[in-house]
Amino acid sequence: MERSQRLRIAVQKSGRLTDHSLDLLARCGLKFSRGKDQLMCYGENMPLDVLFVRDDDIPDLVQEDVCDLGLVGLNVIEEKRLAMAARGTQARFELIQRLDFGRCRLSLAVPDEFRYEGLRSLAGRRIATTYPNTLARFLRENSIEAEIVTLSGAVEIAPRLGRADLICDLVSTGSTLNANHLREVTTVLESEAALIRTPVPLPDEKADWVRRLLMRIDGVQQVRESKYIMLHAPRSALPEIKKLLPGSESPTVIPLDGSGEKVAVHAVCRENVFWETLESLKAAGASAVLVLPVEKMLA
Ligand code: ATP
Ligand code: ZN
Repeated sequence: MERSQRLRIAVQKSGRLTDHSLDLLARCGLKFSRGKDQLMCYGENMPLDVLFVRDDDIPDLVQEDVCDLGLVGLNVIEEKRLAMAARGTQARFELIQRLDFGRCRLSLAVPDEFRYEGLRSLAGRRIATTYPNTLARFLRENSIEAEIVTLSGAVEIAPRLGRADLICDLVSTGSTLNANHLREVTTVLESEAALIRTPVPLPDEKADWVRRLLMRIDGVQQVRESKYIMLHAPRSALPEIKKLLPGSESPTVIPLDGSGEKVAVHAVCRENVFWETLESLKAAGASAVLVLPVEKMLA
């Protein structure tokens, strides 16, 4: 099939988002084989091909319609949007779905010896970052006059090199900051991965695949937490037990053979099931409680 018939999705070639992005596509049922250093992978069982690129290039590839879809961090999306706005143009890619991976935050961090007494301590300081536009908006919104030092990488060593007084960089666990004697003081932007799409309308067949993909992504995100619970209980305990099942819609109640009063209860719980819940269920009269992972779900 020619390009116009196949969807193309941009994914980070090698970095923090790569494994999660490919895992998501695999869970959505996409089969493809990825060779080393290959720029593109062809979907074997869906008209969906994966293009591997630097994450920073993904918003442009999507808004220029080189790719129909892209998986990229909100931090990159937001910086791109603000950079374009600063040049008087409007970003054309559309954000269609936030995803539950790639969580991090863009934060301000100061050297250990920096005396931080709230945002006013930032006035007149030099702040190193690879996110100048997002930082500029934060400073503007908080009426802070500070100098932005735009770097293309290795932001965390800028204070030690004397290039800046503090930094604005991505943090997830904080261990990189600690290793560089920096301490996080304020969050500028919360981020996670997201799916973006081209501004160009898609032909019916492609649009239909995007819909199916979105439905599957939704299913994948739901099952991550979901559990299937089976238990036995006296019928009289049902009202109490239904209240205890976390995030479930009406459970299935099945009479047990040869026992008038006891029933089996099956339910999909949309939230994680913890030991405390099982203990409460037992206290309410449940027995033979089984908790199973859910493999797939289609609402
Ligand atoms: P590329 O070569 O593709 O430009 P990169 O060095 O910009 O790679 P990575 O460090 O792999 O990118 O991060 C990719 C994305 O992962 C970030 O833009 C962000 O959305 C997300 N992310 C999650 N946690 C972190 C973290 N602790 N530090 C940096 N990025 C993180
Ligand atoms: Zn990058």
